Order: sequence, then C-alpha cells, then structure tokens
Amino acid sequence: MKKKLLMLATVATVLATSPLLQARRQMLLVSDAQMNQMGVEAFEKLKASDKLSHDPKRIAQARCVVNALLVALPQKEATQAWEVQVFEDANPNAFALPGGKVGVNTGMFDVIASQDELAAVIGHEMAHVTSQHANERVSRQMLAGVGLDVIGAYTGSKTSPEKSKMIMGAMGLGAQIGVLLPNTRKQEAEADLKGQGFMANAGFDPAKAVTLWQHMMAASKNGAPPQILSTHPDPQNRIKALAERAPKLQANFRAAHAMGRTPRCF
Ligand SMILES: [Zn+2]
Repeated sequence: MKKKLLMLATVATVLATSPLLQARRQMLLVSDAQMNQMGVEAFEKLKASDKLSHDPKRIAQARCVVNALLVALPQKEATQAWEVQVFEDANPNAFALPGGKVGVNTGMFDVIASQDELAAVIGHEMAHVTSQHANERVSRQMLAGVGLDVIGAYTGSKTSPEKSKMIMGAMGLGAQIGVLLPNTRKQEAEADLKGQGFMANAGFDPAKAVTLWQHMMAASKNGAPPQILSTHPDPQNRIKALAERAPKLQANFRAAHAMGRTPRCF
C-alpha cells in the first residue's frame, strides 16, 4: 500500500483535452519519455521474438505510407523518426507504438486492395499513438493496482515474463502476443475519426477507410477472423461512421492533392 501511495504521489497527472472530439478528459499517469521507452522496448522484443520480413517491396510500401502520413500528424509525431518493420505473419494486423514504431504483418497486404487502405489502417494505429491511448491503458492498470510497479520494473532484464506480457498488451500489442486487450469504444471512435482525417490530409482517399473494414470482414468469412477484428469489434458501426464522414473529408483530400501530396506507394 505504501508503495502504491508513493507511486501515485510521484506520477504526474495530466488532464489533456482532445481537440477533435468534445473535450475528453484523459488520465495520463506516465510521462511521454517513459511511454516512448516502453514502446521502443516492446518493439525490440517483438523484433527479437517474431520473424521479420525481408521483402523489399512490402517494406518499401509500408514505409512509403507511413512517411506520407507524417505531414498530417501533430507536430510532435510529425517531426520524430519512425521505424517501420514488416512482420512475416499471415494474420492481417498492424500496430503503432509510442516512440515512433510501426509494424505491419505480411497478411495485411493480402487483405488490402490499395495503398489508401493501408493508409487507413496505419493512420488509425498512428492516431492511437497521437491520442496517447497506450498511456491511458497503462494508467488505468496502475490505478487498478494490476501493474502498479510495472513502470518501475519495466527496465528490461528485471521484468518478469508476466509483467512484460501485461505491458505489451497495454501498449496495444494484444493481438500480436495473444492477449486480448481491446481499446475502449471511445478510443476506437477517436482513432477512427483522427485516422481518417490524417489520411485525407495526407492525400489518401478517406472513402477507402470504409472499404478497408469491408475487406477485413470479407477476410473473416474465408477462414479464421483476422485478429484485428477481435481488438477492433463492431466493424458494421465503424463502417457506418466512416462512410458518413468520408464525403465531408473529400475537400481535405482534394486540397492535399492541390498541395502536391499525392502518395504513390503501390
Ligand atoms: Zn484501434
């Protein structure tokens, strides 16, 4: 208990407001620097445990989409260096982590029909990062007492496999490591909204966020459902909201093209 109080006394509570939604108060108990470090370490662990693809075409396509999206991101994330890796994994999944990390599974390329659909899924994942959703998840677990000393313990060698798994889950890597830890509905709606905006402002067709999820649903009919659908539930409602917003974002899409933002990644 003493430890708990000490921990809570030493963390700074930041109540941030999300500019794109009606003022949403966030509980953020972990510093940016710590979140970045956790993201970097989680990514290194995945690179060591999972198989990296060396397909130059896929790697170039994923990097091209990430680079094209950067112009639309808030300044902090737009100006940082991003590492992009493709993982040899048939499950169509993608993720982004604080600290500037993006992972795309090879299986994603079998589901998407265009560069714009890849931009839709990566834009959504990057929006989770710019909205500090991993920080919210870790903070919730700290308050729940689940991973109280996890931040202090998260220094690599001293981290038990269990804690490590928990923190990976909280970082949004649930599907990747087999722990189902979905984001909240609010976080998902926020990532959809911002991600689709990033797409349009970067010169990708915002309507393709709709077809992305349609293709994800179609993929689940052909066999085991993609993992991303278990961490991203309710695709029908998601599709409806994205479809309603797409026409409103066409002006941004056209303006981006007029500014010379015309990605050619595929
Ligand atoms: Zn999401």
